[in-house]
Amino acid sequence: MNFSSLGLNQQLLNAVSELGYTEPTPIQAEAIPAILNKQDIMAGAQTGTGKTAAFALPLLHQINACSGDEDYSLNAVRPIKALVLTPTRELAQQVYNSFVEYGKHTSLRTEIAYGGVSLNPQIKALKSGADILVATPGRLLDLLFKKIIDLKHVQSLVFDEADRMLDMGFIGEINRILRHIPTERQTLLFSATFDEAIFKLSKTLLKSPTLIEVDERNTAATQVEQIVYAVDADRKRELISHLIGAKNWHQVLIFTRTKQGADFLAKEMCKDGIKTQSIHGDKSQGARERALEEFKQGKTRALCATDVAARGLDIDQLKYVINYELPHIAEDYIHRIGRTGRAGGSGLAISLLSPDENWLLEEIEAVLDARLPQQWLPGYEPDLTKVVEVSKKNTRTAQKRRHKQRGMGKNTSNRRR
Ligand code: AMP
Repeated sequence: MNFSSLGLNQQLLNAVSELGYTEPTPIQAEAIPAILNKQDIMAGAQTGTGKTAAFALPLLHQINACSGDEDYSLNAVRPIKALVLTPTRELAQQVYNSFVEYGKHTSLRTEIAYGGVSLNPQIKALKSGADILVATPGRLLDLLFKKIIDLKHVQSLVFDEADRMLDMGFIGEINRILRHIPTERQTLLFSATFDEAIFKLSKTLLKSPTLIEVDERNTAATQVEQIVYAVDADRKRELISHLIGAKNWHQVLIFTRTKQGADFLAKEMCKDGIKTQSIHGDKSQGARERALEEFKQGKTRALCATDVAARGLDIDQLKYVINYELPHIAEDYIHRIGRTGRAGGSGLAISLLSPDENWLLEEIEAVLDARLPQQWLPGYEPDLTKVVEVSKKNTRTAQKRRHKQRGMGKNTSNRRR
């Protein structure tokens, strides 16, 4: 299936193709036609499944189709037609960024409102009107009470991560917000989990919803579970130490791209109290063998290695592989994760992805012919204000690379260091 068969307008199709999306994810394939068909939906999907585009694209399409007759040129204030509620400001920022990116070839305007920062800039932005508003519940109520916004033209209401909203005790705010929104509307509810509280909420909110459930992640049938955590580069070490410590992992093989990187990371992790050594081509054979032996015997908890040093490395029942940085050669990813899950055992491969590495992930996904959805580890969410800038740059870089490769008649699997 491709995006053009979903009935989205050309501006949106151009935006997704510029982002390098070639086909809809399962949730997009199911949700987009249902939303365009004006149905309410209740969808079970986590961050990383492509759920944001699953609701953003059809909403942008619908609003764009209706805005054709309206004239916004003469200082007319645009009424808010779609409201997206999120539990946290990080998610609000991410959803807002997606709307801006997907809608960049339309003239629709998206605004954002969340707490913990000064109200004034948000008031100023909202006074000029917005077609779509992404907001956290508390700040939205502040704006409603101050009569900065009104929601009586809202046609679509989205609850993103509804389960987290309930966990965070937002039900009172949600009920107050609902009083300001027309009852005649489309409602879309996304939740990672469905428990009694969510079903109760859905009964009061949704009219004959279409139920959509997709797998948490698009992992191929394999013994190695693959997880990608999006995280800022300068917080990667902290995240690794946290994972190893909190989950009490032993024998963790960590890949870095450079020898210096392996040494530095090992030293820093020792300072965090995790006994770690490094192996790479600049170490003598003896030192490498000793480090490996101590790792196998469990005397050291983690081993930092470069790709070359780790080739052929066979450690019985190694459970955990962490990619501190993604490899520059996509096939190395397969070698790296192949260190675990051997001989029928199960394994876990975690990749830490900083915003500047998105294009490397795309190349790996192309080689695997599978998507590796990104997740956030609570407490280590990336700074999203930086992400959009970097991802725009990376899309251009990836496009240039692909163009160049095509021109040279090569594909990714031919490249070697
Ligand atoms: P989400 O689940 O909405 O947080 O999306 C997770 C990641 O998947 C984001 O980086 C999106 O840019 C990316 N994404 C969403 N839809 C697609 C698609 N159809 N193809 C490739 N990547 C996608």
